[in-house]
Amino acid sequence: MSLLVVGSVALDTVSNPYGTIEEGLGGSAVYFALAAIPFTTTSIVAVIGTDFPKEHINLLKQKGIDVEGLNISKGRTFRWSGKYSDDLNIATTLDTQLNVFADFKPKLPAAYKKIPSLFLANIDPKLQLDVLDQIESPQFVGFDTMNFWIDGQRDDVIEVMKRVNIIFINEDEAKMLTNKKHLLDCAESILKAGPQTAVIKRGSAGVALFQENKMFAAPVYLPTRAVDTTGAGDSFAGGFMAFVDRTGNQSWETLKRAAVIGTLIASFNIEAFSITRLNMLQHDEIKTRWQEFSEITSYGLEPLDL
Ligand code: AMP
Repeated sequence: MSLLVVGSVALDTVSNPYGTIEEGLGGSAVYFALAAIPFTTTSIVAVIGTDFPKEHINLLKQKGIDVEGLNISKGRTFRWSGKYSDDLNIATTLDTQLNVFADFKPKLPAAYKKIPSLFLANIDPKLQLDVLDQIESPQFVGFDTMNFWIDGQRDDVIEVMKRVNIIFINEDEAKMLTNKKHLLDCAESILKAGPQTAVIKRGSAGVALFQENKMFAAPVYLPTRAVDTTGAGDSFAGGFMAFVDRTGNQSWETLKRAAVIGTLIASFNIEAFSITRLNMLQHDEIKTRWQEFSEITSYGLEPLDL
């Protein structure tokens, strides 16, 4: 099994109460692909500029990520800079420079067109549609977006939403997209617009999954000491989608487990700046955290005798 992801490959400048990093490796597609590693292989569709450090490409290759679809264009790489609130829950974008992404027209390698599981990571919705159109027979399509695109290209975002199986979106962005105030109303409105499953990410309040007549909530992995939450959403989605890909079915039970895996992979990612922690992640650490998560969240509820 394998996954295709289209999204940003970026140089991120991030500052928060724990420190600052200048032009570190980031981008939605990078976090996604690194998070997927324990479960499946991922191919990246994106563009970088001629200024992109070679060592970053080497790292992705060395990690087994397929970069045949990573174009190098004359010009500057996508750059994002942001700062965070004290509790790291809210990212404020200081600057977004699309650079080479501004006129990127991807032409997928022939083998990529046959990959049925696709993640449209946070990037220009027109580009997401362009990639989706080139896939011969899409089976499981995930989608993420953010305020930048909802603000600037709402109609395109809604167009993508019609064609995906599952959406991953922040609670605030879900409210902005649907013009609703309550989580449940947001979820209902999103499900009406296309996807069968809505995953609403709620920062340190965890994550909620919705399908028609079904819902599930998972808290965050409590013992994490967050240092930089950049890429939390992308690494959640990477773990989630890759776990589903590996499992080979999209049943509700699989999606619930995938939400826990996504939570755990994101909990590792946020322990250090940039991709440092994902880069060192070991299978045993995931297994241990899975067990701990199970113990922390097991209520053992028996019927209430009232
Ligand atoms: P997250 O913290 O999961 O929302 O993702 C943060 C990552 O998204 C950073 O690595 C940024 O480079 C990337 N990013 C930020 N803004 C955009 C944007 N407008 N389009 C695509 N990627 C972005």
